[in-house]
Amino acid sequence: MAQVDTDRFLKDLNELRKIGAYKTGVHRPTYSPEDMESRRWLMERMREAGLEPSIDGIGNVFGRHPGPGPKLLVGSHIETQNHAGWLDGALGVVAGVALARAGLPVDVVAFADEEGHYGSFIGSRSLIGLLEESEIDSLKNRYHGKPLREALREAGLEGLPRPRLDPARYKGFFEMHIEQGTQLESQGLRAGVVTGIVAIWQYRLIIEGMQDHAGGTTMAERKDAGLTAVRLLARIDREFPMLCGPRSTWTCGRIALDPGAPSIIPGRAEVLFQFRDIDTAVLERLRECLQRVVQEMNRTERTRTTLETMSESRPAPCDPAMQAALAAAAERHASGQWQHMPSGAGHDAQYMARVMPAAMLFTPSIGGISHHWSEDTKEEDLALNLRILADAAEAYLRG
Ligand SMILES: [Zn+2]
Repeated sequence: MAQVDTDRFLKDLNELRKIGAYKTGVHRPTYSPEDMESRRWLMERMREAGLEPSIDGIGNVFGRHPGPGPKLLVGSHIETQNHAGWLDGALGVVAGVALARAGLPVDVVAFADEEGHYGSFIGSRSLIGLLEESEIDSLKNRYHGKPLREALREAGLEGLPRPRLDPARYKGFFEMHIEQGTQLESQGLRAGVVTGIVAIWQYRLIIEGMQDHAGGTTMAERKDAGLTAVRLLARIDREFPMLCGPRSTWTCGRIALDPGAPSIIPGRAEVLFQFRDIDTAVLERLRECLQRVVQEMNRTERTRTTLETMSESRPAPCDPAMQAALAAAAERHASGQWQHMPSGAGHDAQYMARVMPAAMLFTPSIGGISHHWSEDTKEEDLALNLRILADAAEAYLRG
């Protein structure tokens, strides 16, 4: 079995934590000076581990194994949300370096901007040929509006090539990540073998009523778009539990009323609504329910609701053989203390899964907290999951 150095792994994670330190977390937004410093730090660690490091024109850091034979790709992302946790993506990248250091034939990758400061998975999409130059031209920072082109120039990445991955080089992609939820912790478990990454289906509901005076217009006369929105959402929340899967989620992230003043009946409401599941059949059932509720509201309400699809992504199932390798290793190192589980959050692995077998391993998150500086995982759980990952990687490579 591969001997991974868990002490060195934890030391690396703690060293990386100092770059952009904020309270007990880190602040390394994509292409910031701190983010670029962490990418250079990573390239040094890759070199020490015997890999050939490079950075591409979108900021992906790649450590290429120089030896012959079939390889694994291992990694995640290294930039963070604003004032966020020290582990989030860093964990999976530093784990990759630890595997390489233990002598496993792995290439290590840190995908750029998984956290979406500029776009949606631009690093992993660039590597599989799904990022056009025209999209790079159009993207801006979602917080301060800086064009992506300008950020790339300032970061010294302008003009660098954006090579495509050669999927034929790999037997698969492993991503270790924190759970970012409470499923493992609440059951006293120490590892999660991910079955797949959920799809996210997002919709915009536009409700048109009649803007009018809140005192002069009788209840019988008014066409209140705000009340329709509330009734529609309450109806969905009653019906979805009868149709959903065990881990479906649904979220109304925004309700905007127009004009949004205390004494004016809202003439228009815009509702952003999304649901997530790993099973397309479940997603389709929920969509049918949403469509039916909209039709029924249009029959019973004095307002007019239209449903627009914003996006319907596809679920990314994890590779069965890679899951089996992770499950066997988890059972060996933490018998009875692990489970299979879907990922409710998006990850770079969903794009890698389009070009090669891919799988993910989750560590528990203390209190389920993530995207916050207090995010943490017990050191013994980090070390345990590194051993599980290393054993699974070795067994899967052999198999
Ligand atoms: Zn992440």
